[in-house]
Amino acid sequence: MKTPATVLGLGAMGTALARAFLAAGHPTTVWNRTPDRSPELDDLGVTRAKTVADAIAASPLVVVCLLDDASVRDTLAPAASELGSRTLVNLVNGTPEQARRTADWTTQQDAEYLDGGIMAVPVMIGGPAAFILYSGSETAFERHQADLAALARPTFVGSDPGLAALHDLALLSGMYGMFGGAAHALALISSEKVSPTAFTAELLVPWLTAMLGAVSGIANDLEYGAEPGAAGSNLAMQAAAFGNLTEASHAQGVDPRMLIPMRDLLDRAVAEGHGDEDLAATVRLLAKD
Ligand code: NDP
Repeated sequence: MKTPATVLGLGAMGTALARAFLAAGHPTTVWNRTPDRSPELDDLGVTRAKTVADAIAASPLVVVCLLDDASVRDTLAPAASELGSRTLVNLVNGTPEQARRTADWTTQQDAEYLDGGIMAVPVMIGGPAAFILYSGSETAFERHQADLAALARPTFVGSDPGLAALHDLALLSGMYGMFGGAAHALALISSEKVSPTAFTAELLVPWLTAMLGAVSGIANDLEYGAEPGAAGSNLAMQAAAFGNLTEASHAQGVDPRMLIPMRDLLDRAVAEGHGDEDLAATVRLLAKD
């Protein structure tokens, strides 16, 4: 028999997780604050627990997918005595500090702890593109790796419980930077009679895809140091051209707020003597704050 699994929380993501466990043949117990949420799970054979304690008692593997850190604490505290000898997998978005605190608390209940960062939206769960970052007890990860693979590709990033949240937030930072840039690009293009869909398909996506290669170059520079003379696009040149972006935005009636932080960072890099370096210098400036 496949490992029984419990899912606490039947929001959009918790429901997708429960569905994936069921599809992979895991006896699955669920609990949700508002009872009877996601009725479609009943036809798939889910067991609904009346209390959090009953839900935890049903499985050695307990996955929690609630809104935030406070809801996890409020939900688990009254049922803490049931956690002993189980593995608690916390897939709630949070900070490294929150993860470390929940890990300490879980260990005090004689349970093992894995923190997780879901790199997927609900519709991707159980599919090939989804992955989930885990950190915390490596023993628990090895024991349940095959079970967790039912949800998404499991990727262990370290025994410090805070590392999954750190990786998750770093990846989201990259994503939001891209969305912010794309939002500005589309606002700029929409200030004239240009088709946003054609612009995006024919120019924006190919351009962003090509520029992704530069990110690995920045990482190489950070880890191994810059190769002499490698700065093909030095920061002084980039800072000098950046004013055109904000000036043209104002002229087109577009709010340049997404661009201002990058302009300030480039200007600071040049002012502090990094004008002949590449973008890795901006990472070093940010990391010093
Ligand atoms: P939803 O808003 O759809 O669901 C929230 C869930 O939390 C519901 O089950 C809700 O219960 C429960 N809840 C909220 N507050 C409390 C509380 N105080 N006590 C007990 N239960 C509570 O969110 P998602 O399912 O989309 O997200 C869940 C987690 O997954 C979040 O941490 C989110 O960041 C993360 N995540 C979500 C992604 C997504 O695209 N959806 C992607 C990656 C991560 P009730 O039904 O009673 O309101």
